[in-house]
Amino acid sequence: MLINYMIICNVFTIFVPEFQLSTNNMKGNTDILLIYTGGTIGMRKNHDTGALEAFDFNQLQANVPELTQFAYHIDTYSFNPPMDSSDMEPKFWRKLVEIIADNYNLYDGFVILHGTDTMAYTASALSFMLENLQKPVVLTGSQLPIGMLRTDGKENLITAIEIAAAKTEDGHSAVSEVCIFFENQLLRGNRTTKINAEGFNAFRSYNYPSLATAGTHIKYNHNAILHHQGGQLTPHYKFDTNVLTLTLFPGIQENVVKRVLGIEGLKAVVLKTYGSGNAPQKKWLVDTLKEAQQRGIVVVNISQCLTGSVEMQRYETGLHLLDAGVISGHDCTVESVLTKLMFLLGEGKAADEITRLMNTPLCGEFTL
Ligand code: ASP
Repeated sequence: MLINYMIICNVFTIFVPEFQLSTNNMKGNTDILLIYTGGTIGMRKNHDTGALEAFDFNQLQANVPELTQFAYHIDTYSFNPPMDSSDMEPKFWRKLVEIIADNYNLYDGFVILHGTDTMAYTASALSFMLENLQKPVVLTGSQLPIGMLRTDGKENLITAIEIAAAKTEDGHSAVSEVCIFFENQLLRGNRTTKINAEGFNAFRSYNYPSLATAGTHIKYNHNAILHHQGGQLTPHYKFDTNVLTLTLFPGIQENVVKRVLGIEGLKAVVLKTYGSGNAPQKKWLVDTLKEAQQRGIVVVNISQCLTGSVEMQRYETGLHLLDAGVISGHDCTVESVLTKLMFLLGEGKAADEITRLMNTPLCGEFTL
């Protein structure tokens, strides 16, 4: 099986992806593409520095002999060199979407091995970029390298492949959206946040139920999984990164907020407020936000609370933000709002269209 690979532009001069296909033609008729980007799952200790460094996919594969036991045909594609996900950028999201779109008809499902640090950002970004996705794209990784005895990587990888291959009785993919599988839970990608730097249970979806739970059986929550209307996969590639997050705190200074919102080229701000979307009732804050909005800057209100939704009309301290033209971020994650804004700006949408689309779930990223 061949994958079309094109070097689209010279942004990949550092990470020139190279094919490392391990094809087992004797296997059944379920085809999975396993894309290895890097992350702890494929790292080992540098004995000089003591820090974890990435190693290549062949070594990763050598640590998971179980991969050859699947009744599926699994091809692999590796970023070369693999990366720590702290180095993740939109150009690599583009690369992932390009790989998936070019090979969409050849595979039943896609598994992406990714570092945990920015996995939720990548999952959110891909969910917007892969419009009309009707196949599973499952991201996973691990907290301990796969070569370590107590690794969580093997189980995560093996179950992620099972999920990517799973079909309903009528032959459709059991899950057809971008999701994260980690420590027994399958979560919607654009609802997920990394919450633990140590524990195996590293991800949470606070405002949306799990899509599946893996125990002795993998139990799918069919009511929670996205159902599609049909239509062809439409990949999107553009992002505009002129965005930032601004976290409110008691004592935040007027000159700081004014300077931040005055940054040249700034197009959108994710304002992290209190509780159900509340902010100090200072006139300078409302005036600064109004003035930013008049300059075409989109401001989206997200709560610093992990559970629950923004409701600006609930308290007076939220109402004045509504009056200043601030948009509700509903019960979205920060990762989802940021990537959605970068995506909509990249698509060249005007501020009023962005406002409309921020209030419209594109792929289950918030609850209406
Ligand atoms: N720094 C690593 C990464 O995100 C952490 C991990 O994979 O868990 O690539």
